[in-house]
Formats: sequence, C-alpha cells, structure tokens
Amino acid sequence: MAVRDVFPTTLIEIIEETPRVRTFRLALPPDRQFSFKAGQFVMASIPDFLNTKGRPVRRAYSVASSPKDLEKGYLELTITRVGEGGFFSNRIHECRPGDRVLIDGPYGSFLLLGSDEPQPSRYIFVASGSGIAPLRGMIRTILLEGRKVPVELFYGFRHPSDYIYERELSGYVATTPGFSLVTALSRGTPPAGGANPSGEKGGLGRWTGLFGRITALLPDLVREVSDARIYICGPPEMVAQTDSFFRAMGFPEESVHKEQW
Ligand SMILES: Cc1cc2nc3c(=O)[nH]c(=O)nc-3n(C[C@H](O)[C@H](O)[C@H](O)COP(=O)(O)OP(=O)(O)OC[C@H]3O[C@@H](n4cnc5c(N)ncnc54)[C@H](O)[C@@H]3O)c2cc1C
Repeated sequence: MAVRDVFPTTLIEIIEETPRVRTFRLALPPDRQFSFKAGQFVMASIPDFLNTKGRPVRRAYSVASSPKDLEKGYLELTITRVGEGGFFSNRIHECRPGDRVLIDGPYGSFLLLGSDEPQPSRYIFVASGSGIAPLRGMIRTILLEGRKVPVELFYGFRHPSDYIYERELSGYVATTPGFSLVTALSRGTPPAGGANPSGEKGGLGRWTGLFGRITALLPDLVREVSDARIYICGPPEMVAQTDSFFRAMGFPEESVHKEQW
C-alpha cells in the first residue's frame, strides 16, 4: 500500500463511548484538503511514537464520522483500547486535547453507495463490537444527505456497557422515520424477573434489546430477500457467518459488502 500524503491533525475532543472505547475528534489543518468516502479507513500515527526500528507505529482506523462532517473541519476515529499487548491503541488513549495525530489516506474499498448512484430499496447494516465505527460513518452520511431509503441496523456487543454511540443511535430511532435498530448482547441471559434492583448503569435489568449473538439472531430478523445494500463489519468469524447467511438467503454477492479486523 503506497503511503498517501500525511496530514497533521490536532486532537480537539475525546468522547468516552464505553470504558474501553473512545472517539477521537481530529481537526484537519485548515490549509489542506482531505477527502474520503464513508466506510474508508486512514492510517494513524503519533509523532515520536516509534517502533524498535525507529519507524512510526501506524495502525488502520476506519473513519467513524461522515464526509459531511469534514465541512466542520474534523473527522473522528473510534478506537478500542486493546489493553494488555495493545500498542498503538493504548498510546492514543493516553493522548489529550491539543496533541498531534498524523493520518494518511484514505484507503480501502469498503464504500457506501454514492448518493448519485441508483439507490437500493433499503440499507442493512450488521456490526459487532467496534465494527460499528465505519457503519456509523455510513449511516450518518445517509441521514445527513437526507436519502429517502430505510436503514436497518443490527448491532451486537457483549455487555450493555459496551454499547458504542448509544445516545446517537437511540436519537435516530426517536427522530428518524425509516431508521430501525436491533441491539443484542452476546454475553449474559435475561435476568429472572427482568428487573435490576440496583438500577446500576449498564446492568441487564434496563436492557431492552435482545440476547444472543447477532449472527444467530439474523434468521429471525431478516426474513425477505430484497433489493437491499448490505454492509457488515466486525471480527472475521462474525463477518464470514453474516455473509454466508445473506448469501444463503439469496442476496447477490455484489449487494453484500464486508470489512473485518
Ligand atoms: C481496515 C481496518 C480498520 C480498522 N478500524 C478500526 C477501528 O475503527 N477501531 C479500532 O479500534 N480498531 C480498528 N482496527 C484495528 C486497528 O488497526 C489495530 O489493529 C488495533 O487498534 C490494535 O492495535 P494495537 O497497536 O493497540 O495492538 P497491536 O500491538 O497491533 O496488537 C497487540 C495484540 O492485541 C491483539 N488485538 C488487536 N486488536 C484487538 C482487539 N480489538 N481486541 C483484542 N485484542 C486485539 C492482537 O491480536 C495482538 O495480539 C482496524 C483495522 C483494520 C485493518
């Protein structure tokens, strides 16, 4: 992969999404033009954060914001802190507003259909964990551009406390006709009686979504083959299973798009 121009960005805001996940809002230099398509990724590095060979440590991150957000001068990366063994993700979680983050790109062919192309009858998004990041950028784009196409999001994660973009996605459900959301917890079972006496945030008692792996739930959730455009992002096994499900249902190969890490 040929390295594209490097853009020095300034970290202007850090949004705590979950205990392990933060969204880093990066301001672009005002005198430089950066563009990307929803779904693409950038390579990120931090000045003076070098590997043992003295080279910059670079990692791929999907752009989690919309190209429309570039008009406000920023882009966002949503990054899970890997913890033990994690190298770059741990380092960027130590960054503070005002710090420099270098990006180059955009890269990748996981792309949202352009608004100038014929639109499908619906968009279906399936994400697991931090795989929601590029899909959030795509969904924001569809909504900000006012495309009149229904959007269905199926989103799985382990615990209620792992729910990335909870406020934004719940807001779309409340305010955007045609946007539907199904969330599912891959760990835990419904509590007996359904109540969470402590009212603890992130507890199962306040959970209103489903239980089970999103891949296992899909057959109950998607029942009709349609002229849909499908975007899947998550770990390799989840992506492979989800792809197989849609293909077995009869969705054509060219309508199913995948990204994994
Ligand atoms: C196209 C693409 C887009 C990506 N987009 C995103 C994104 O939007 N957000 C994001 O958080 N990451 C994303 N990643 C993953 C990211 O590039 C890094 O791999 C990740 O942040 C770990 O880097 P690290 O330097 O901290 O860990 P490394 O030093 O690279 O790896 C250390 C160890 O952690 C393990 N590991 C790596 N990732 C995880 C994980 N998520 N959970 C548990 N263990 C892990 C590795 O297997 C390894 O054993 C993307 C990857 C690709 C290829």
